[in-house]
Parts: sequence; C-alpha cells; structure tokens
Amino acid sequence: MSGVYSKTKRAKVFSMFGGNCAYCGDQILLETFYVEHVVPKSSGGTNEYMNLKPSCEACNRTKRTWTIEEFRIRLAIKQSTNGISFNSAQIELLRATGCLDLLGVNQNLQFYFETMKNGEGHA
Ligand SMILES: [Zn+2]
Repeated sequence: MSGVYSKTKRAKVFSMFGGNCAYCGDQILLETFYVEHVVPKSSGGTNEYMNLKPSCEACNRTKRTWTIEEFRIRLAIKQSTNGISFNSAQIELLRATGCLDLLGVNQNLQFYFETMKNGEGHA
C-alpha cells in the first residue's frame, strides 16, 4: 500500500509534523513511516494532502479504518492499559460502566497534530 505514493509526496507527508507521528507524536523514519488516511478510503477519503497524515506503525495498525474519534478512544485505552485493545462492544461496556475512568483512560486525549495546531495557530 505504501508504494502508491511518489517519493515527493511521501517526503511532504513525512515532514508535516517535523518527522513525528501525527497521532502519538513518536519519531518516525522516512523509510518506514506510514501514510495514514484521516478519513479512511473505504469511507470516501481521498489521497489529498488534507486527508493524509504521517503515522508510526503502531498507530497505523491501531487506527485501521476507524474514524478519528473511534481511534482517539482506542489510542487512549492502549496508552493507559499498556497496549491492551478492546473491540467496540467492550469499549461501549467499559464506557457505560464508568470503567474507562477507573482505568485512567484519558477520553479527551489530544493527538499530536491537534497540539501542534494550537501552537501554530494554523487555520
Ligand atoms: Zn504513532
């Protein structure tokens, strides 16, 4: 899948956040980073720059075809449970029973690109 982008496009996407993953903020490498679709292609997302973000392997694997909000809760759970992942029904149950709070899951987790936006005043 990563082969569909030109070198120039990959380099541009890579440098969007200074060589960091747009989601978790980890450092990524030009050779191995993933070009991530914010809106999944299966949901009509395009290959425009607006819809592309640089991503590390872990975030790419976790996000799959989730929307940004579905991914937010999954990444938050992953970060506060040391890598455990749940399916949608389990997450709903955890949320409904207040267990997300008990687990210390930050449901308002900010993605790296969101914290960058605040800093830059980017329109
Ligand atoms: Zn990441």
